[in-house]
Amino acid sequence: MKPAMPGKILPQPNADTRPFWDFCSRHELRFQKCAACGHLRWPASFICPMCYEKASEWVQSEGKGTVYSYVVYRQAFHPAFAGDIPYVTAVIALEEGPHFLSAIVDCAPEAVHCGMPVELTWEDAGEGFSLPKFKPIQQP
Ligand SMILES: [Zn+2]
Repeated sequence: MKPAMPGKILPQPNADTRPFWDFCSRHELRFQKCAACGHLRWPASFICPMCYEKASEWVQSEGKGTVYSYVVYRQAFHPAFAGDIPYVTAVIALEEGPHFLSAIVDCAPEAVHCGMPVELTWEDAGEGFSLPKFKPIQQP
């Protein structure tokens, strides 16, 4: 485990997820697109869960979607998060298809709701890691 943002744990990439985090460090949210069936998958894996093809390419997400589900944390389950509560963890239904687990930021927790349009934003977490998070799309 690596300490981050004081006391928080940074991602620990493996052979499958290293490219994902490398793209994130450049503020690019990318997913693997299966070379055989076109399925876009997350989390990263060496094989397509739909057709078992191994070949894939990394395609960039537009970073837009809606809140599919969420939870408001009002208790810190790790001391490093004590200063963040209340905070929102959500499943984002991205326009490209993947359902992505992330956090909602720049928004009061009580304003978050299912179906809320959100867009990608980045949190630079140190040690070369940038974390993809989501914020509400401001309605005109
Ligand atoms: Zn496939």
